[in-house]
Amino acid sequence: MGSGSKVASAVELKTVEEINRLRLAGQQAAELLQRLKKACVPGITAQALDELAARIIRELGATPAFLGYRGFPAHICVSVNEEVVHGIPGPRVIRAGDLVSLDVGVFYQGFCGDTATSFGVGTMSATAERLLTVAEEALERAIQAARVGARLGDVSYAMQSTAEVAGFHVIREYGGHGIGRAMHEEPHVPCVGQPGTGLRLQEGMVLALEVMVNVGTPHIRHLSDGWTVVTVDGSLSAHFEHMVALTASGPEVLTRSPSPSPSPLRGEG
Ligand code: MG
Repeated sequence: MGSGSKVASAVELKTVEEINRLRLAGQQAAELLQRLKKACVPGITAQALDELAARIIRELGATPAFLGYRGFPAHICVSVNEEVVHGIPGPRVIRAGDLVSLDVGVFYQGFCGDTATSFGVGTMSATAERLLTVAEEALERAIQAARVGARLGDVSYAMQSTAEVAGFHVIREYGGHGIGRAMHEEPHVPCVGQPGTGLRLQEGMVLALEVMVNVGTPHIRHLSDGWTVVTVDGSLSAHFEHMVALTASGPEVLTRSPSPSPSPLRGEG
């Protein structure tokens, strides 16, 4: 789940032990996300995915991080096509050709795991395929930029520039965040930034990096449910999120799937 910009306070540096526990939480979130992605086939409703998420979270021995967060009414966010983030799973039926963004968060043994992915259900348009490729690449470049001694602006710029070179746009109003015992900690990590500016990155920071990329303009609006963020122009949007620990030997992704299984379907790799 993305954070809006907040008042700055101290950024907490995690110990090796805390990072170990965040890795465990991150792996639970990653497993949940992969299992939901597999279940996301034409004909299923977003609400059925949410019910499945509730069962998997219980099986994992975790608790939902989104349910009740500022009143959010579900276990996961399901955002389809022009929905950017924070879609409330309801009766909407997932159809072939939809671009689905799933965002999950859990608490596990006192620490939070938060991760998101986007993918096509069935055959996608060439634009949708390219959006998914570019948005995922934007996150990968941001992860590589998240190095001890670099600046927060370097990370944000990696997202923004990757999207814009491809002719797409990142959104301004939401971004990633620090993460630990709480889901949203300092710093806020925007999807836009200038290289060489902003917070100096230090060993022990753990960031949930999130990129939200629109095919059309960067402008968004909120639906009347108070949560769902959609593109103003109705264009497609994709969302990817990984938790990253900043270590002396480089960025470590804490939310890679524990048992990646090769998929024969395009766009589900
Ligand atoms: Mg998040």
